[in-house]
Amino acid sequence: MTESNGNTNAVHPTSRLPHVSPTFSIATRGVHGDDPIRNYTDVAPALHVSTTFRYSSDPDKLIPSSGLEDDRLELGPTITGDAHIYSRESAPNTSRLELILSSILNAPCLTYASGLASFHALLVYLNPKVVAIGGGYHGCHGVLKIYQKLTKCKIVDLFDEKSWDAAELGENDVVHLETPINPTGLAYSIVHFAQLAHKRGAVLTVDATFAPPPLQDPFAHGADFVMHSGTKYFGGHSDMLCGVIAINPKRANVKKDYWAMFQERVYLGAVMGSMEGWLGVRSLRTYELRITRQSQSADRLVGFFASCLDSTSTSPDAALVQSVVAKLGHASLQADDMKPWLAAQMPNGFGPVFAIWMKSKHLAKRLPGKMVLFHHATSLGGVESLIEWRRMSDDTVEETLCRVSVGVEAWEDLRDDFLQAFRTLTEQHN
Ligand SMILES: *Cc1c(COP(=O)(O)O)cnc(C)c1O
Repeated sequence: MTESNGNTNAVHPTSRLPHVSPTFSIATRGVHGDDPIRNYTDVAPALHVSTTFRYSSDPDKLIPSSGLEDDRLELGPTITGDAHIYSRESAPNTSRLELILSSILNAPCLTYASGLASFHALLVYLNPKVVAIGGGYHGCHGVLKIYQKLTKCKIVDLFDEKSWDAAELGENDVVHLETPINPTGLAYSIVHFAQLAHKRGAVLTVDATFAPPPLQDPFAHGADFVMHSGTKYFGGHSDMLCGVIAINPKRANVKKDYWAMFQERVYLGAVMGSMEGWLGVRSLRTYELRITRQSQSADRLVGFFASCLDSTSTSPDAALVQSVVAKLGHASLQADDMKPWLAAQMPNGFGPVFAIWMKSKHLAKRLPGKMVLFHHATSLGGVESLIEWRRMSDDTVEETLCRVSVGVEAWEDLRDDFLQAFRTLTEQHN
């Protein structure tokens, strides 16, 4: 595309760097995934705010857009940092982000204005007549209802196969799985739902927001399309909205899928701003450090509270935790699923989000206000630890549920923060 659209406004347009090796670790790809388009001498990427880009002054290089054949184009975000036309189509900072994401996710990626915008784009592209969906993020159900308003599609229960067959879910329909699921952090088998979808000719889409790589690779277990709210771990600093669609590179028509979604995005207009592209690249430099640390800390916190809830524990901490906490939700606690599929699906940790069900609504509503290191706020995935009385944003969940998103602080400090908050709750009765 660099040559074909005639834009050559790069500083060093010929200094293409070697392709980033797919054998590099995720940590290395986060820092070097965009090396192939580092056309400038800046070490930290510049922020490009232009919406429009100059064409070539060489008339021989002016090829009208109708003359472009998608087949000729390399797969993936080939808008190589110096071939942009208009920023609703592509822009330098966003392309850079997409190149790194495609390297980290091992699949061609497109970014969108938000996670929900990406889910909308996926439905618009796949155009299913029937969609099977379970619980999970309430906003995705909201998007699906809008899609249903326009298309009269049928919506059936992911966990009730009979309802799929009653609605004749089949060829080109969508089975949508979120795992681990919001807000409980529990995991479902991707292989299982891939088999159920594929035997009917349907497509499996996975919302993998809660466990991006290296925690989980849905493509390795049969997903056709993966979506992420990049607002969460890819952004990681609670300061940017972003959605990501990754397409399984083994799909027969992966190029067609990519370019059709690319073209539809031009018209849907749901692109990220350049500032978000720039922030996203900044974020991905430290992505692997953050996600692994946050997930490890969550595993430790959950392990600590689970041992406290064990009825045989006799420590003072255990008595305190038992007096206020009813139960916990996190994939690390799914002992029965571990051997059959979960250990293979999540080999590197179970994600930084977990749920605490308090013994009463009274306690759940008050716990967030007693925390010192955790903000009482919605969202997740940032460097700051958050806790939310989940009823604030989702009226389908129990009133006793608090959702916890573990940040990059030391886990021992976070544990002690919970203990002091529990102590305060047991001492106060207001
Ligand atoms: C946050 C979230 C979304 C929506 O993402 P936005 O970027 O807020 O639009 C979708 N799915 C899950 C699982 C989420 O946590």
